[in-house]
Amino acid sequence: MTSSEIRAQFLNFFKEKGHKIVPSAPMVIKDDPTLMFTNAGMNQFKEFFLGIGKAKHNRVADTQKCLRVSGKHNDLEEVGKDTYHHTMFEMLGNWSFGDYFKKEAIQWAWELLTDVLKIDKDSLYVSVFEGSEDDDTLEMDNEAFDLWKAIVPEDRIILGNKKDNFWEMGDQGPCGPCSEIHVDIRSAKEKAEVSGASLVNQDHPEVVEIWNLVFMQYNRKANGQLEPLPAKHVDTGMGFERLCMVLQNVRSNYDTDVFTPIIREIETITHTDYGKEGETDVAIRVVADHIRAVAFSIADGQLPSNTGAGYVIRRILRRAIRYGFTFLNTKQPFMYRLVKVLTDTMGEAFPELKEQRQLIENVIKEEEHSFLKTLEQGLLLLENIIRKNKGETVDGRKAFELYDTYGFPIDLTALILNEKGLSLDEDGFGKAMKEQKDRSRAASEISKEDWVVLTEDLEQEFIGYDLLEADVKLTKYRKV
Ligand code: ATP
Ligand code: MG
Ligand code: MG
Ligand code: MG
Repeated sequence: MTSSEIRAQFLNFFKEKGHKIVPSAPMVIKDDPTLMFTNAGMNQFKEFFLGIGKAKHNRVADTQKCLRVSGKHNDLEEVGKDTYHHTMFEMLGNWSFGDYFKKEAIQWAWELLTDVLKIDKDSLYVSVFEGSEDDDTLEMDNEAFDLWKAIVPEDRIILGNKKDNFWEMGDQGPCGPCSEIHVDIRSAKEKAEVSGASLVNQDHPEVVEIWNLVFMQYNRKANGQLEPLPAKHVDTGMGFERLCMVLQNVRSNYDTDVFTPIIREIETITHTDYGKEGETDVAIRVVADHIRAVAFSIADGQLPSNTGAGYVIRRILRRAIRYGFTFLNTKQPFMYRLVKVLTDTMGEAFPELKEQRQLIENVIKEEEHSFLKTLEQGLLLLENIIRKNKGETVDGRKAFELYDTYGFPIDLTALILNEKGLSLDEDGFGKAMKEQKDRSRAASEISKEDWVVLTEDLEQEFIGYDLLEADVKLTKYRKV
């Protein structure tokens, strides 16, 4: 089954169950101060769960473009290194707004996976919320447990903790237990040796979560107490690329037809072979993943820039360029050349890609061009610094100079140092930054500040995302 057929099967199935099929909301969110990017299918329906708005249809299904690179859901560091987390991915979902509840949600999920899509029942595990020790108002989800017990053998039902099996929108508001479905795609031999049940929720690349069924049945009040919701809702999310991996019988999302055309193109452009060498493979996966995130953002109208969402996109693109530069030997712009194949594979489902193709290519090419210049120069200088360095810590002032004078990204410095077993003197960097700021203030009272210290948590969260990779926390500064 091709990925397009899989997507269509999902939507058809829920259409036949009385769901209205709606388009994906944009991936870049413009009007919500709490969220920059859609990170789950439910985002666009938030107000229905909060009781602010009323849904036109009480059963809805779609495939939603999601991006998980900031805030609560930040998978960036995993991307490329593992085979099943992406920055941008599609989340298939079905919803009930005060209509059906656990019984139908569970039965239909099972029917779709096993009857329609023919996934081997013996490879599936389901999880149920076990109740929480640290919050005595939370009970075990016996209702879901009994429903599952009627369908699957009890040893395939895993009890899960609050972290994995209880969903909350925030400190307040609608929340409830969830049941997740996991697939064990290991070989028969491996399955015989180690039980799949013990590998659920253990970050095993071949025992992966595919579908989360959230049952919103409580409202958490400002004082922390839970009260039952008058209308109960269902919110589900299934990773499309992971589903394709299972149905196409491969071991990695990158081996599905969602990614293989892009990977073939990367191999051709960079004269590399995917599947031969660890570091090259990581870099190819990073590039194949990030081109999607960046292209879809631009198609949504979010161009790379120095602030806000645009800054996040710029950093994602730069991360890919830098992986290419270091591991694929790409010294010329090349990512923009992947837009065509991406459009060919996804343009049917997401026509915005086709419509904006020219713009997407131009913007990416321009970004690559200017960043490559910076990279080349900066890497040489950094090598020099590393060569002359004594001890395990590199002077923050030197890193600052590289950053300030040559525009070399500080997170990249930290990343490279980290790869070489060195660390960055954060305090020295911060001090140099502050001194520079003071100097420029003194130099001209009327000139505007070059640097701002961000105070909003939200912004600090996303500015810091790829610094975490190098385990430094230089999250407070950005150039404006
Ligand atoms: P995981 O535990 O694998 O990180 P999650 O529990 O964070 O997943 P949910 O928030 O439950 O994910 O999202 C619903 C579904 O979306 C998951 O079951 C999974 O199939 C898919 N999904 C989540 N994060 C990603 C990602 N970064 N890339 C691809 N698919 C994802
Ligand atoms: Mg996750
Ligand atoms: Mg999970
Ligand atoms: Mg989950």
